[in-house]
Amino acid sequence: MARFIDFGDVCELPPRRTENAAEARGLVYDQAVKAAVDHLYDEVADFVTPMEWPAIAPLVHGINQLKKQRNAVVLAHNYMTPDVFSLVGDFRGDSLQLAREAAQTDAEVIVQAGVHFMAETSKILSPDKTVLIPDTRAGCSLAASVTGADVRLIRQKYPDYPIVTYVNTTADVKAECDITCTSSNAVQVVETVARDWGVDTVIMIPDEFLAKNVAANTDIKIIAWHGRCEVHEKFSAEDVRQIREAHPGTLVLAHPECPPDVLEEADFAGSTSALAHYVSEHAPQKVVLLTECSMSDNVAAENPGVEFVKPCNLCPHMKRITLENIYDCLKTMQHEVTVDEDVRIRAKAAIDAMLALPKMATPPGFKVGQGAVPLEVI
Ligand code: SF4
Repeated sequence: MARFIDFGDVCELPPRRTENAAEARGLVYDQAVKAAVDHLYDEVADFVTPMEWPAIAPLVHGINQLKKQRNAVVLAHNYMTPDVFSLVGDFRGDSLQLAREAAQTDAEVIVQAGVHFMAETSKILSPDKTVLIPDTRAGCSLAASVTGADVRLIRQKYPDYPIVTYVNTTADVKAECDITCTSSNAVQVVETVARDWGVDTVIMIPDEFLAKNVAANTDIKIIAWHGRCEVHEKFSAEDVRQIREAHPGTLVLAHPECPPDVLEEADFAGSTSALAHYVSEHAPQKVVLLTECSMSDNVAAENPGVEFVKPCNLCPHMKRITLENIYDCLKTMQHEVTVDEDVRIRAKAAIDAMLALPKMATPPGFKVGQGAVPLEVI
C-alpha cells in the first residue's frame, strides 16, 4: 500500500459522499451491486474509506450498466480522482492518448472525464461518435487564455513563423494553428516545424512556462503567449527547497507547465506520462510530483512500494467531474460537445500534423538544473 505524506496547505477536497447521492438516483447497495463491484474496492482502498464504499459502489455499478446499454466508454484523465480514474475509466492517461484510443474503439458514445478542450479533441478525432462532458463548467485557464481571433492577429504580426499550439486550447484556436503539441513532444514538434519551414523562430501558444521550458531544451528561438496553468504556476523553487528540507532524500519530479525556476531545482521534469513512467522505471524510495494532486494518487496506486510527498495543488476544473455527474450524463445523454465542421477539419489538420511525427518509444524528459532562457512573450 502506498504511503502519503501531506505537505503544506491541505487541498480543498470535493465533499465527502453520503449514501444519498446514490439513493437519490434510485441506486442501492444491494447484493447484486456487492457481487458486481465489491472486488474493485482494493483498487481505491487508499482513498475511499469502508464507510464511503456503500455510497460509491452503486454509482460505479450504475455507470458500468449504462456504459453497456449506450455502448459507451469513459476516458479518464490522469488528473481525475482515483474513484473515477480507477473504477470507471476505460481508457486512462493524458488527453491525447485518450482521444487517440477512443477514436479506435467501436464505442458510439464517449464520456470525457476531463475538461472541455479534451472533449473537443475527442470530437475532432471521432466526428461520428457522441461526445459527452459531465459538467460543462470544466474549463481550463490555459484554454481560456487565447482565442482564434488572437491567433489570427499573431499570424498577421508574424506571417513568416509557424504557430505551434499546445493541445490545451479550444478547437477554434487549433483551427488557426499549424500544428499541435503535447508536453511529451513539444521539443520534437518545435524543432520539426522550424526545419520544415526553414526558420529559426517558432511561435508557441498558450503556455508561457511550457514555452520557456521548451526554449531551454532547443536552439530554436521561441515567441511565447502569456497563458498559464493556474495549478502549475503555483509551484515555486522555494517549495522545492522546503520539500527537500522537510523530507530529505525525496526525488522531485516536475511537470513542464511549472515555472522554469522549479525545473531548475527539480531532479526530473516531463509530461504526466513521463512522470508516471519515471516512477515505475526508477521506483524511488520517496518522491514528490509537482503537478495536479490526483496524479500522485493515481501513480501511487500503480507503485505501492513508493512513498509520496503530496504537494497538493488541485485543478478546480478537473474536480468538477464526479461519479455522480458521469452517471447522470450517461443516463440523460447530456451534455453533448459539438464542433463546427469547418473548424473541426482545420483543427484536425493541426492535430494530424503532430500525429504524423515519429512516435517516441518512451516519453522524454526536459533538462533540469539550468536557468530560464530569455524570450519574447506576447
Ligand atoms: S491542470 Fe491546468 S492545464 Fe490542466 S485543465 Fe487544470 S488549469 Fe488546465
